[in-house]
Amino acid sequence: MFDKYETVVGLEVHAQLKTKSKIFAPDATTFGANPNSQTSYITLGHPGTLPFINRKVIDYAIKIGLATHCRIQKYNEFARKNYFYADLPKGYQLTQFSTPICQEGYLQIRVNDTPKKIRIHHIHLEEDAGKSTHDQDPHYSQIDLNRAGVPLVEIVSEPDIRSGEEAYQYFAEIRRLVQYLDICDGNMEEGSLRCDANVSVRLKGETKLGQRTEIKNLNSLRFLKKAIEYEAKRQIKLIESGGEVVMQTRSFDANKGTTFALRSKEMAHDYRYFPAPDITPIVITDEEIAQIKAKLPALPEELLARYTQQLGLSAYDANILIDDQAMATYFDELMQHTQNAKSAANWMTGPIKSWLNREQATMSDFPIPPKQIAGIILLIDEKKINFTIASQQLFPALLQQPTQKAAAMAQQLNLLIESDDAFLSNLVEEVLNRMPDKVKAYKNGKKGLIGLFMGEVMKASKGKADPKITKQLLQERLSSNN
Ligand code: ADP
Ligand code: MG
Repeated sequence: MFDKYETVVGLEVHAQLKTKSKIFAPDATTFGANPNSQTSYITLGHPGTLPFINRKVIDYAIKIGLATHCRIQKYNEFARKNYFYADLPKGYQLTQFSTPICQEGYLQIRVNDTPKKIRIHHIHLEEDAGKSTHDQDPHYSQIDLNRAGVPLVEIVSEPDIRSGEEAYQYFAEIRRLVQYLDICDGNMEEGSLRCDANVSVRLKGETKLGQRTEIKNLNSLRFLKKAIEYEAKRQIKLIESGGEVVMQTRSFDANKGTTFALRSKEMAHDYRYFPAPDITPIVITDEEIAQIKAKLPALPEELLARYTQQLGLSAYDANILIDDQAMATYFDELMQHTQNAKSAANWMTGPIKSWLNREQATMSDFPIPPKQIAGIILLIDEKKINFTIASQQLFPALLQQPTQKAAAMAQQLNLLIESDDAFLSNLVEEVLNRMPDKVKAYKNGKKGLIGLFMGEVMKASKGKADPKITKQLLQERLSSNN
């Protein structure tokens, strides 16, 4: 019976903006600070205080708007969304209502390697509420207002998402994007990025939307997917058994993997939105937008196109590289030192990625500079070392001594495929080891003995040794201390 239906999802994603101070007040926004230590009179909404916009917040919202192909709203108002709750001491939340800062964009996701555009209805700015805790004290609920007034963007999608998996991809893409843009840390466990999933079902082929429920506050990709899958099944079973889906706000129980009703859903008119009387409208100019646009970093979509189309990498490799901006940046730097894109990608997705996983480290912890990795790639391309030895011996050695050059290290560890040089060094070594007292005499000043050593090496090489190189190797070896 499930096959007859299709799941329809629209997501409302909240991303906490990474500003030092709050959206309308100078209080700090540090996560995990002592409860209620970052709460000024403005945040608490004391009578007579005036909110004042933090301009960074506007810039950050424009960044995400441009990155999601939105139109930027030039004239911005804030509204009061009125409701009573203990973690909202003012009695209203300041939010954008009639003039969301970004409108009508889209985000491209990939599902089984096929690109799909999810339209974005709008992105608006708002302040976060405080945090209530109900399970720490047997008699009291606890309120921490540090989070009250922390800036958020809410990214509202159109109902274009068709499964839990697509929702997962969309939410992951938003996380990656805000991290690339450096506007939100994307930390779901700390609640910096969380979402509400609106879920409905309808018979396949039907164009009208079904009645939806809204699952609040999902802060993990896996939970989002599971919650949607559970909720869609629940609705289908309900409809099939003659029941009706009612508009509801629900919550996901991660332990049971089920959703449960919290309350019937409020409608917009319940909030009595009206323009915030104490915030001057904010006007954004074309110049400001152009300046922000000029400074946007290369974004995942663009990198994916460049890596696959210009460098000829597979979509699979390219996706691993762009998954993490630091990885893409490292790869770009590596490409400045090598022509071999395929090998460079293989080193990133192979030995380097394994090291990161094993050490549970991030790219910024990786000690070997890109130039040295390019050095390894060159050694392999010149057939001086093979990949197995390079990855299993040279790479770990460079991890220990990251400032060493790849070639020098390979030489030192005797990893190079036998070349004339290596052959000669061995002969030099052999000859000198045979005559310890002559070596001692040489070191004590009888420099004329170099002729004898030269003769011996020549003999051992059956005359094939290059005299110039032999002399050089001998002198190097004899001037070292061992
Ligand atoms: P509200 O502000 O009451 O939450 P909106 O109409 O702004 O409601 O929609 C919020 C989100 O719900 C949007 O992401 C939208 O795409 C999604 N949505 C609306 N109707 C449906 C539906 N029938 N099924 C699934 N998602 C829906
Ligand atoms: Mg909603």
